[in-house]
Amino acid sequence: MTKTSATTETRPFEAEVGRLLKIVANSLYSDREIFLRELLSNASDACDRLRYASLTDAGLLADDPDLKVTVVIDKKAKTITITDNGIGMDHDELVSELGTIARSGTSAFMDKLEGDDKDMALIGQFGVGFYSAFMVADKVAVTSRKAGDSQAWRWESDGEGSYTVAPVEEQSEEQSEDAVARGTAVILHMRKDAKEFLETQRLAHIIKTYSDHIALPIQLRGPEKDAKSETVNAAQALWTRAKKDISPEQYTEFYHHSGHLFDAPWLTIHNRVEGKIEYTNLLFVPSTKPFDLFQPDRKTHVKLYVKRVFITDDCEGLLPAWLRFMRGIVDSEDMPLNISREMLQNNPVVAKIRGALIKRILGELEKKAKKDPEAYAVFWDNFGALMKEGIYESDEYRERLLELCRVRGTAGESLLALGDYVERMKDGQDAIYYITGDSLEGVSRSPQLEAFRAKGVEVLLLCDPVDEFWLPQVATYRDKPFKSVTQGGIDLSAIARDEKTDGDESADAEAAPDDEMDKLIALFKLTLEDEVKDVRVSSRLTDSPCCLIADEGDMDMHLARLMKQHQGFAAGAKRVFEVNPKHPLVKTLAQRIAKDGAGDDLADAVWLLLDQARIVEGEQLPDQAAFAKRLSKFIEMGLGGSG
Ligand code: ADP
Ligand code: MG
Repeated sequence: MTKTSATTETRPFEAEVGRLLKIVANSLYSDREIFLRELLSNASDACDRLRYASLTDAGLLADDPDLKVTVVIDKKAKTITITDNGIGMDHDELVSELGTIARSGTSAFMDKLEGDDKDMALIGQFGVGFYSAFMVADKVAVTSRKAGDSQAWRWESDGEGSYTVAPVEEQSEEQSEDAVARGTAVILHMRKDAKEFLETQRLAHIIKTYSDHIALPIQLRGPEKDAKSETVNAAQALWTRAKKDISPEQYTEFYHHSGHLFDAPWLTIHNRVEGKIEYTNLLFVPSTKPFDLFQPDRKTHVKLYVKRVFITDDCEGLLPAWLRFMRGIVDSEDMPLNISREMLQNNPVVAKIRGALIKRILGELEKKAKKDPEAYAVFWDNFGALMKEGIYESDEYRERLLELCRVRGTAGESLLALGDYVERMKDGQDAIYYITGDSLEGVSRSPQLEAFRAKGVEVLLLCDPVDEFWLPQVATYRDKPFKSVTQGGIDLSAIARDEKTDGDESADAEAAPDDEMDKLIALFKLTLEDEVKDVRVSSRLTDSPCCLIADEGDMDMHLARLMKQHQGFAAGAKRVFEVNPKHPLVKTLAQRIAKDGAGDDLADAVWLLLDQARIVEGEQLPDQAAFAKRLSKFIEMGLGGSG
């Protein structure tokens, strides 16, 4: 589509926007009033951005330096107009910002859509930003002039699949008073079923409810004759008010606005710090997982203000990446207002604030963990994986983070602290045992846990990819080494059997005689020479005939699988194949080989056992056809065929 200054261009919405608009427009969403929250939020963002830009280019504010937002009701025309004198949008921005799904939160919302009633609840959770205008309007017009530009543009749509963009015609000399001012006006042509919003009282109430915390004045002008614009909100940065004057609802609304999240905060940390460095922080821990926690850029989201002026939401040094689940703001008194984003890098004030913030956040989490373990468990399930990144990355806070760490073990469903585990360790147990894998169900079925279960030794079940990294990094906790049960030798002989784990006779079963086992192991080694690093008699199995483990010093098995999946890492070190000498199948094999020597059948059995161990690990078989053939042969034999 070409752009000609005199004509109107019509463009289709991006397919995703079309889909979204259909849902929004057909919604009978009971919280439709949030359209105003979204539009006021955008207006306020636009003013923040202009104020920041004007720090380096004062001319941008020109003769209109008092930033504000106005809401005007026109009952006759059935419109509500939301105007701001913020940064504005030029032609290309109107197209890119209002014609595509610019914000990733909305894309995440679209990904979750299933085309049913739940969708509407999701809108509330994600917030659909500008497009929520179509919940109440059947036509939306946006007129905008970017600060510093002379040309204004008008964007218009009925939300039915396309929109138009046209230049706003030059105003003649006499009309110059009406010339489109800097900033943006959003004109909502209200739907028949949304007339309720054309009432002054109603709008005033909505603004108070959702936008009181916005630091700019929001003026409302009703439809009454001679109506004046009245400032409806407190127009004071929320964090500058005393805690006792702020209601939980106001905190929540501020969190929604500044964090672009729509759950309720799990924790609110609001305080003013005075002394060598002075700042206020109003920080939140979300109660649900934001969708973008694991984006590769690991961006933090806490916004930096200097003396109430928004500077950036991308201040790298303000918090470490492992605290990227935090939302909210920090307002510093010690930096110059005209600080550029570049100057923020390696800034000593930022570094000091960072240290203090981390300590404060950890302190609050410690309190929560102690006072309300159940609530803390919810936090840990949401953000534990990030906290573990902190254990791995942060020498300074590792000790404190280890105390905050929660894990699941084989002894029960609930989360436990590492200290709890150590206190529960059995007499004679000298290591903290753990197993890593993709899912709790998966790892808890692992054959490598059998002997631990039989002896009542608890094993930690760890299922976050980051577990592969922090455990080797930390190595010990309270002087007890961490030890993977899928790696290296395991010796549980010093630990007494647990009386509680009765009925597990296999653990007491007689093992095959050593000389028979020696011969069997020799056959395994010969047969599997190229496939495994070694074959050993296992002390970690009770019910299963065999399993695979990583050798001491090699990469642990789950990590090797992860590397293979995500980085195309070629097959790592070969595994050690362990055989359970107490298993009936193994005993039979050992007897056969002692009596008759090796034969083809035995070799096939050996291969089947290896492939079976691979399947239990959730691995792909290198030769599935050969596996199927051998299995068929054995089934046939088992059913009495000739084989
Ligand atoms: P978000 O605010 O999360 O980015 P929205 O859908 O609310 O998502 O808005 C999309 C984009 O449109 C904004 O990021 C901004 O660039 C632009 N925009 C919306 N309203 C305005 C406005 N009043 N002034 C300037 N830009 C705006
Ligand atoms: Mg928005």
